[in-house]
Amino acid sequence: MKIGIMGGTFDPIHIGHLLLGEFAYEDYGLDEIWYLPNGNPPHKQQAEESTLNHRVEMIRQAIRNVPYFKLCLHEAKETEHSYTYQTMRELNTLYPENDFYFILGADSLFSIETWKYFREIFPTCTILAAMRDDKDAADMRMQIRYLEEKYGARIRILQAPLLEISSTTLRERASRGQSVSYMVPDAVAEYIKKNRLYQKRKLDNGRLGENS
Ligand code: ATP
Ligand code: MG
Repeated sequence: MKIGIMGGTFDPIHIGHLLLGEFAYEDYGLDEIWYLPNGNPPHKQQAEESTLNHRVEMIRQAIRNVPYFKLCLHEAKETEHSYTYQTMRELNTLYPENDFYFILGADSLFSIETWKYFREIFPTCTILAAMRDDKDAADMRMQIRYLEEKYGARIRILQAPLLEISSTTLRERASRGQSVSYMVPDAVAEYIKKNRLYQKRKLDNGRLGENS
């Protein structure tokens, strides 16, 4: 099978993540897309973060009606850091019959050289890279060529609608009591509301802020 891997923090999952999965599925003839939430993201440590359980549950809700979208809990370990090179190696060992396609946005394509043992990622998968933010098609082609020539990476452009949506913006909106409708699936918007996610901003001294 041809499997797309959509790794991320998904705090919360939003329609940008879902569109990337959908377009990769269609345009590259993939069999399944596996959403892979990172258990303990080393670079994101903010007080208003939601727990792994909440992030996983929101993914479940977001993909529940799509038979070819799956949840992959391989990195869902709260106490350990997960690294993409290691996960991709393990997935190749566990499923030697599968071909893996790692899906990411431009910001990740441009920062991939900072990822731990990033060179080890390239033999394990084809990368499908989508445009995001201020990176245009020419920037993307340049970075792709650079990574291909320097590291032998296999990278293809993933065409998907450009959406200026990030989980950071959604967390900020929710913490201000603003709507996140239409930027996340309805069930996720309801989940955020019901569980009062992103509402409590801890102050430096540990007391709850005015949004609590
Ligand atoms: P945060 O603001 O917390 O970093 P995020 O919206 O970037 O959240 P992540 O979970 O960090 O979401 O992203 C997972 C992957 O999805 C990354 O490769 C990222 O580049 C990609 N991605 C997320 N949102 C978009 C978007 N709107 N367009 C293209 N790619 C996106
Ligand atoms: Mg991000």
